[in-house]
Amino acid sequence: MPGSSDVRVIGIDISGDFGSGIRGGLVDGTGAIVARKEALTPLTGEADLVEAISTMGGRLAEGARRDGNPPTALGVAVPGLIDEASGVVKRSPNLPLQGSALASALSARLGLPVFLVHDTGAGALAESILGAGRGVADMLLVGLGAGVGGAVISGGRLLVGATASAGEIGHISADPAGLTCGCGGRGCLETLASERALALRYTMASKVAVLPEEVLSRAAQGDALARRVWNEAMVALATVVSTAAILIDCAMVVLAGPTALPGASVGPLRTLLPQRMNLVRPPRVELSSLGPTAGVLGAAVAALERSGMGEVTRAWREAAPPPVSA
Ligand SMILES: [Zn+2]
Repeated sequence: MPGSSDVRVIGIDISGDFGSGIRGGLVDGTGAIVARKEALTPLTGEADLVEAISTMGGRLAEGARRDGNPPTALGVAVPGLIDEASGVVKRSPNLPLQGSALASALSARLGLPVFLVHDTGAGALAESILGAGRGVADMLLVGLGAGVGGAVISGGRLLVGATASAGEIGHISADPAGLTCGCGGRGCLETLASERALALRYTMASKVAVLPEEVLSRAAQGDALARRVWNEAMVALATVVSTAAILIDCAMVVLAGPTALPGASVGPLRTLLPQRMNLVRPPRVELSSLGPTAGVLGAAVAALERSGMGEVTRAWREAAPPPVSA
């Protein structure tokens, strides 16, 4: 067992869309990313994707070995449904991974223990230990982007659930008579508060094709339809988040995602949550502080904790500042 300063693990996040790609980082015993790599996501098939991930992992491992601190494990943040125990990706909607034994394939190539973690869960783990939720043991992370995702940290641990779907708040219905969702349900939060939904709802009502960020800018400029679409999105978000927050009794909600949507949602949620939570104290609402590196750090946390090096992340948790009272 190396001393904390010599610890190295690799975190790789493959949740990026085509174009934003695969991110990887070599993480040291203090939780700092000491080397980074990025690559485009090949969508040509499972073999090419495994090749891209193992090439990145191999280069990060090689650099670490050259510096005298070889990595001890690799964590991979994966979008979709995964079985953490077997390291199998059961299905991933946007990647060529269906029933793929990804962990064992990478482990055989790299000679390292490999652990898979859900991408949103990885982000939540990282934010709760190193980011906006430092010192907060009970936290809900809401990912706002093309879709709406979520993950729950309860008692400092990532909640997985019976079918590895805990925290999927994007598919809680906020309007039973609403639009049909990609999941087959009606009026899911994702059909109201995702970027795709904002653009679609504005376009359906106006017959003017817009990008999601235009709905935000038009609402800010006073466009009545854009304001209505935006307000409906925020009311649905507050309704679903308050329901989830009462259920899990979280102290903080962290909003995350690659565009302006999470930041724009912080203010409305801070106003709307207290209106919906009387018995239970409303959680603080904060914007992700780790941004796009959260997935890499969360994958590294999962690798440390599941490879028997939990004392490293325990030290990070204990070093966290006490939460600021609301
Ligand atoms: Zn749905």
